Amino acid sequence: MAAYDPTNIFARILRGEIPCKKVYEDDFALAFHDVNPQAPVHVLVIPKGPYINNMDFSAHAPADVVAGFWRAVGTVARDLGLEDQGYRLVANNGAGGGQVVFHFHVHIVSGKTPPGFGRVHA
Ligand code: AMP
Repeated sequence: MAAYDPTNIFARILRGEIPCKKVYEDDFALAFHDVNPQAPVHVLVIPKGPYINNMDFSAHAPADVVAGFWRAVGTVARDLGLEDQGYRLVANNGAGGGQVVFHFHVHIVSGKTPPGFGRVHA
């Protein structure tokens, strides 16, 4: 696996170098609106640590960091009022899995979602 690149755009958002439309933040995660929404609700949740994707995060993040991150994903979905209407979680992993930004992130999407969203860009 390639090394984590600290110049990626989400690392820059975490450092406050570029703005985001923040919806939630705690010790483990930052959540913000996707700049190019694919559904009426499209929020990204990212861990605060330098993990490239799910393969990296699931293998290398300490247990409290993994738990804190996934609790944050649930909190964000609940705070967005999505529990009843439902939502999808998507985590593209690797270029072949459609990942473009190489800082681990989970998409929370709800509402009308395009059929192609989340599919592998083969
Ligand atoms: P992925 O294909 O899973 O790597 O998704 C990356 C997502 O990041 C895309 O949905 C982009 O629209 C989104 N994105 C890229 N730059 C920004 C940004 N500055 N603020 C918010 N979302 C962004």
